[in-house]
Amino acid sequence: MKNKIHKCDFLIVGAGLIGSIAALALHKNNFKVLVIDKEKKIIPDKRTLAVNANSREFLINLGIWGKLKTKPQSIEKIIISDYINHKPLIFENNSEAMGNVIFNYEMVQIVRAKLKELSILKTDININFNNIQPNKITFIDKNSYKFKKIIISIGKNNNLNPSHRSIKFDQGHNSFVGFFNHYKNHQNFAYEIFNPDGPLAILPSPSKYKNKSTFIYTTKKKISPNKIKLLIKKKFEKSHGQINFEKSIYKFPIKPNLTKDNKDFIYIGDSLKSIHPVAGQGWNLGIKDIQKLIKLSKNYSIDDKIFNSIYYSNRILESSIYLGFTSLLNFLYENKFPINNKVIKLGYFGLRSLKPLRDFFIKQAMGRSNLI
Ligand SMILES: Cc1cc2nc3c(=O)[nH]c(=O)nc-3n(C[C@H](O)[C@H](O)[C@H](O)COP(=O)(O)OP(=O)(O)OC[C@H]3O[C@@H](n4cnc5c(N)ncnc54)[C@H](O)[C@@H]3O)c2cc1C
Repeated sequence: MKNKIHKCDFLIVGAGLIGSIAALALHKNNFKVLVIDKEKKIIPDKRTLAVNANSREFLINLGIWGKLKTKPQSIEKIIISDYINHKPLIFENNSEAMGNVIFNYEMVQIVRAKLKELSILKTDININFNNIQPNKITFIDKNSYKFKKIIISIGKNNNLNPSHRSIKFDQGHNSFVGFFNHYKNHQNFAYEIFNPDGPLAILPSPSKYKNKSTFIYTTKKKISPNKIKLLIKKKFEKSHGQINFEKSIYKFPIKPNLTKDNKDFIYIGDSLKSIHPVAGQGWNLGIKDIQKLIKLSKNYSIDDKIFNSIYYSNRILESSIYLGFTSLLNFLYENKFPINNKVIKLGYFGLRSLKPLRDFFIKQAMGRSNLI
């Protein structure tokens, strides 16, 4: 049956964490899906992922969360401090953990295995974006396909084709990620310190005993691993006890961007927007992209012409707000103008003294409220 045309509802290009999870969610909702990735094997990723309460619930319902073997570490308290204000800001939520920290690589292995089991994943496929269009014949792996919708989930480096136009907000930042063991229990607290050279986040790392943490230090300055280690020791030896660093530190260039609308494609995850990791929300927003897709597919036929534009106008708004907020935060701390200090002090004062405002931020971080 060489000339057979395989008819599918969705083609997802990119089987990273977001593309793979989108495929599982659409499959669960009875859509016929094919996912392709250009890589043959999963590229190991040593990072951790702070999964907020909304995303965790989504993964539980998808049957993925329970498959994690390394114990996720819940985030019970977030302590935010900076070089301008004297007292820290503390975010706490009584009804449920604000988030949980897991390993990216473990999660992607679980979802990829599930896709293979369902026979809906093809790897080592380099597709020419000029040759794919919804409802037109597409050749993949010597087979002919027709897809009603094409989802692009190839991460932030999506400028492979002129039709994938994006607005870039590159501030020249790099994130440095590493791990350290410590003598004292981390108590499931997460920290964000805004230093003069950039924000430093410390999160409880997935581990059996609560004696391992991960750091993410983001800066546009050149910095040596030793300087990062000294900074962490100075700030955390009191709370965490004696600190021993793991050998490797991994570097990730940060390239915030927003993708422009394109009538042929639906963008999800970092392909739609990539934001600064200071808020730990990039991937969580990708889960919201998937949730919106599923919701729309229940309310509209996927053949409906307005499907793509409703999705885009909804998701680009929240993405822009997050991108704007995280970029502004960095700008305020990096540029030491007197007006910036005043704005930061006012923000701190508002968050410390106005409980409804603080609660709003906590619910946002947890993915428990929608901006739109
Ligand atoms: C240091 C750091 C820490 C972070 N921490 C957090 C956090 O705690 N919480 C959070 O919510 N977010 C966090 N993020 C953001 C999060 O990592 C990303 O938002 C998320 O990984 C994006 O997933 P994705 O599937 O969209 O893209 P990717 O993971 O980049 O996946 C893209 C996939 O597409 C494939 N691909 C690429 N090009 C093609 C092509 N042409 N054809 C076919 N396939 C292709 C790739 O092989 C890959 O498999 C962090 C980011 C950084 C840099």
